[in-house]
Amino acid sequence: MNKRNILTINNLSVKIDDEIIIDNLCMSINQGEIHAIMGKNGSGKSTLAKVIAGHPNYNIIQGSIIFNDKEINHVNPEKRSQEGIFLAFQYPVEINGVSNADFLRLAYNAQQRANNKPELDPLSFFELVSQKVQSIEMDSSFLARNVNEGFSGGEKKKNEILQMNILNSKLAILDETDSGLDIDALKIVANNINNFKTASKSIILITHYERLLNYIVPDYIHIMENGKLIHTGNATIAKQLEKYGYESIKANV
Ligand code: ADP
Ligand code: MG
Repeated sequence: MNKRNILTINNLSVKIDDEIIIDNLCMSINQGEIHAIMGKNGSGKSTLAKVIAGHPNYNIIQGSIIFNDKEINHVNPEKRSQEGIFLAFQYPVEINGVSNADFLRLAYNAQQRANNKPELDPLSFFELVSQKVQSIEMDSSFLARNVNEGFSGGEKKKNEILQMNILNSKLAILDETDSGLDIDALKIVANNINNFKTASKSIILITHYERLLNYIVPDYIHIMENGKLIHTGNATIAKQLEKYGYESIKANV
């Protein structure tokens, strides 16, 4: 059976100011697949994540991004989110004056509206979100607090996973969601990511460290360098990376 494609990136080049950060990059992801992207700091991983999500600061100078069979180069980030692209930022932002529960409900209802599905009132939404909060072992007091305000690094990362679960997106891009997590939190987050992955969902997992890949087994691992994917392999290359470093992978290309 052919798997359905969810994201295709063709010869994408992206500039910030006058510098090329993504350089003629190609990538293809099917439904139900987890793709890990690893690479040194500054190789362009976060830029790629933000470009897929539609961040306005980045200038696409060549190529196309096809999501769910449609070119989205010029689609705004809100619409991309409503259509099912979710980005968990490497550095989640704090939003003063907005409670986490309200923020999540607004985002959830906007997505429901865009998909002609019923919206939830605050009470029904609270029931939904309470279950999800439990599954990620967060204290429910986090719902009443302002979005990410005063959250520790690990709590912010868990909050991103909560958003991912609520939004029920088709493609989740998780940018270093493992950084700043202690081992217990890492296991909970990994468990949630594994549960999120179903036959119809896809995940791009950007990670610096091999340890996350002890708990999540990706279908493919891509190594990024200077804005290009220089190598693609299966989960075993993570072990090689941990042991011998990026140079060993490059030597085999
Ligand atoms: P990674 O996530 O792999 O560490 P990034 O995508 O954050 O890499 O960064 C790739 C390169 O692009 C870096 O050299 C970084 O300094 C540069 N860069 C990213 N965003 C900006 C920006 N907004 N303005 C200028 N340079 C940027
Ligand atoms: Mg980054």
